[in-house]
Amino acid sequence: MKILVINSGSSSLKYTLFNMADESVIFAGTFDRIGLEGPTHAYRSQDGNRSAHTSQIRNHGQALDELLHTLTGGPLESLGDLSAVAHRVGHGGKYRNAVRITPDVLSEIRRMTPMIPLHHPAMIMEIEECRVRMPDAVHVAVFDTWFHRTIPDKAAIYGLPYKYFKERGYRRTGFHGNSHAYISAKAAEFLGRPLEELKVITCHLGNGASVCAIERGRSIDTSLGMTALEGLIMGTRAGDLDPGLMPVIMKEDSLTPDDVIGMLYRDSGLKGISGVSSDMREVEAAAEQGNHRAHLALDAFCYKVKRYVGAMLMVLGGCDVLVFAGGIGRNSPTVRQKVLEGSEGLGFSLNEHANHSRRAYADNPVVDISGDASKVKVLVIRTFEELMMARQCMEVIEGKSGREHA
Ligand code: AMP
Repeated sequence: MKILVINSGSSSLKYTLFNMADESVIFAGTFDRIGLEGPTHAYRSQDGNRSAHTSQIRNHGQALDELLHTLTGGPLESLGDLSAVAHRVGHGGKYRNAVRITPDVLSEIRRMTPMIPLHHPAMIMEIEECRVRMPDAVHVAVFDTWFHRTIPDKAAIYGLPYKYFKERGYRRTGFHGNSHAYISAKAAEFLGRPLEELKVITCHLGNGASVCAIERGRSIDTSLGMTALEGLIMGTRAGDLDPGLMPVIMKEDSLTPDDVIGMLYRDSGLKGISGVSSDMREVEAAAEQGNHRAHLALDAFCYKVKRYVGAMLMVLGGCDVLVFAGGIGRNSPTVRQKVLEGSEGLGFSLNEHANHSRRAYADNPVVDISGDASKVKVLVIRTFEELMMARQCMEVIEGKSGREHA
């Protein structure tokens, strides 16, 4: 059973080919800078061969052509070897569990584009191109929202007139489900305890970021909402706002709804505050050199994570394990330290040496950075969203999933 997992961004396309017999990665790669100057394609095969080169591709369709050429010239004899293709989709609307992609599913994904305006167009384009190039493969959509289908109404509802909840279905659905599910399960496995016995807070901190409260293996609250904007300050996204501020700014600056979308999704967050970059490495470097705005962006980012961890602590009524993951959570000792400073009274403490020196890698994905006095285990985990996607895709193929709606 070979499954190809595809994760499309607006200017990137990541792919992983799995052998589901043992869940091993046969081949994985990334196209970057699609549609921009100097696109690249980097990949590695199971036997350790790596390649990184500048590519001629100009759009996602051409990236797929190169991808399929690369796969059939190496790990696959033909595309007929593929059992299925799993596509990452931000929001499935009424669909939560992974499903086979049909015209109805595609139109529901399209309907949800206003909720995920930056990501969905690239995801939809990629699915359409794949269906043309691989007409005989089973195509499965795996939604970022699936893990949060257990969030109760009291946490999901917005304080708006009831019709928006009841008639339009506007509720907090959350994202990064594959990551929160994977890292919570991995934490339980590392601790040698059943996940069902644990209260877990997971912090997926990457370009997009969210915190999740997990009880008995089920998400009961998360910081992201119905769109990809709520909650934490992100790379270019604003996170929580006072909703009353938006009409004020719109009037003052004569902004259209599309201008506001651009501002909140592309020009805010770390980038908007720091004026330096959306990339945490560059923000940290500028802060170290004394850049005031970069310092403020770093502090504000960490403060927001701290605030949500505190909220989830109350939601869960305590916490056994706190997990950091995502590009920032996994790689930034500074962020982890700032999030946890002053929380000793709540049972959190860090082993400073471990926090600075130990790293989570593919062959050592879980690192314990808890201090001796810590009542809560603090772990850094390398997330593996693609594996969760491949597993869900398998369930659809085997008929164990895909019939259930939200
Ligand atoms: P992701 O979206 O999970 O790929 O994460 C991307 C984010 O991780 C970017 O903001 C990167 O700057 C950040 N990141 C990657 N490596 C580091 C690092 N060593 N220190 C701080 N942030 C990092």
